[in-house]
Amino acid sequence: MNYRHAYHAGNFADVVKHIILTRIVLYMQRKDHAFRVIDTHAGIGRYDLKGTEAGKTGEWQSGIGRLLDAKLDASVADLIKPYLDIVRAENTDGTIRHYPGSPLIVRHLLRKQDRLSALELHPDDAQTLADLFEGDVQVRVTPLDGWLALGAHLPPKEKRGLILVDPPFEVGGEFDRLVAGLVKAHRRFAGGTYAFWYPVKDRQEIKRFTSLLHDTGIPKILRTELMIRAPSPEPRLDGTGMIIVNPPFTLDDELRSVLPALSKVLSDGQNAGFTLDWIRGEQVGA
Ligand code: SAM
Repeated sequence: MNYRHAYHAGNFADVVKHIILTRIVLYMQRKDHAFRVIDTHAGIGRYDLKGTEAGKTGEWQSGIGRLLDAKLDASVADLIKPYLDIVRAENTDGTIRHYPGSPLIVRHLLRKQDRLSALELHPDDAQTLADLFEGDVQVRVTPLDGWLALGAHLPPKEKRGLILVDPPFEVGGEFDRLVAGLVKAHRRFAGGTYAFWYPVKDRQEIKRFTSLLHDTGIPKILRTELMIRAPSPEPRLDGTGMIIVNPPFTLDDELRSVLPALSKVLSDGQNAGFTLDWIRGEQVGA
């Protein structure tokens, strides 16, 4: 396991992923009934943007760094504000040094009845995450393979939940694992919301992934991709993708407002843009 998220924390992909995450969890807060978030590939939770790893790539500067300085229309700014409030809450002296990863963002959004289960396989990272949430009765950190959570941990006892799956894509087969994981999880917990991250790097692989998802027959699969540049000749992270199964009914419209603005702010050249479409709609077969 070589992947360390500290090199990439706060980059454009994190920004888009974490804004979507925030919008989904905020929607779940609309009902009093408790929910659980299961974060299968959680990372360390809080990243030091002035640390050695983030300093080596500087990726956060064209991600969260740019967004913090961006002038946005009021309607877009309102939708992004809860996410930026969390980032700012982690940086109380007016500068940006700490970037919250997915489990910490979720923790900011839990009410007292809600719970977070975070899994992280890298032993050092799992320990760092466990230290971050030490003594927090609403959070359980498990140093195990996150893919297992798509079986054994479902359905959560709250019967309402979001499952975030954000693998590192450092080994082959992650797209197939996502599809197999979704099929297994959906059988156990069809009413859950699922958010799966993927890199926009290899268009052929994505085409195959999309077709496999369609063939599962699982309804209500929304897909979004934000590209920061035209496809590169060599494999490169040109964009960030997310599949959301059973999204809040508000999410499609929210993303339609936010993504054009984000693609401008995060653009790394010509032909930045986004797509938002349904791999399957409400009805099986749609
Ligand atoms: N979700 C995090 C966030 O948004 O802040 C970032 C996660 S990072 C992309 C992927 C993480 O998955 C890494 O911390 C890596 O150590 C961990 N990982 C890799 N394989 C795993 C597995 N099978 N189960 C759980 N975690 C794994």
